[in-house]
Amino acid sequence: MTTAKPVDSYKHQGLRKLLVQNIKLKGIADPLVLAALETVPRHFFFDSSFLEYAYEDKPFPIGAGQTISQPFTVAFQSELMQIRRNDKVLEIGTGSGYQACILAEMGAKVFTIERQKTLFDKTSKFLPLVGYPTIKTFFGDGYKGLTAYAPFDRVIVTAAAPYVPEALLEQLKPGGILVIPVGANEIQTMTTFLKNADNTFTKKEYGAFRFVPMLEDKANQT
Ligand code: SAH
Repeated sequence: MTTAKPVDSYKHQGLRKLLVQNIKLKGIADPLVLAALETVPRHFFFDSSFLEYAYEDKPFPIGAGQTISQPFTVAFQSELMQIRRNDKVLEIGTGSGYQACILAEMGAKVFTIERQKTLFDKTSKFLPLVGYPTIKTFFGDGYKGLTAYAPFDRVIVTAAAPYVPEALLEQLKPGGILVIPVGANEIQTMTTFLKNADNTFTKKEYGAFRFVPMLEDKANQT
């Protein structure tokens, strides 16, 4: 990441088109998700020395021991979100801010929480610079959700949750959806919880993914 707005060249746009075709072949069909992936310059979220990795379908380190999720994973979670314009969305695990930008591009009002102070500071400054001033960033512990702004239409967790935090289920509106990779080991199961009108939940599972762990409490150091 830089302090000046990075450049989105024709070369990068071309690589992004190819990446989106690849993601489509891997089974992502939601036109809103595909359009957002084609719009948001993923290389903006990379240090300048690693730009050539930005359009590979792979996760990548972003500092502070964290990673920007693999594009397919971002697309998969975004598709499960079933975003409608102006949905109020809570993201746990801001990281680089890329997933938050994809959701904003899909028309959501995004609130995002990060527990690593260094990443929080860096990404909070960066998002307005690359054209996403409306994304609201918070330094805090995602296990607690964001009581002051609840309830949400959608909640997305982008770190491996050893269990499903009760606060995140509580902070969903009826009809709301939580998308969360659940598992205490290396591999997690992508899971959705739909909140029914009677406050019960319908749970669905969608296969194996690998995320960095969701840790308890804020970290003031990196
Ligand atoms: N969505 C990010 C990828 C996130 S990687 C992106 O698009 O780049 C997971 C992130 O979750 C890391 O930045 C990590 O610090 C953060 N995290 C882990 N536990 C957390 C918690 N309890 N609350 C908030 N953020 C957390």
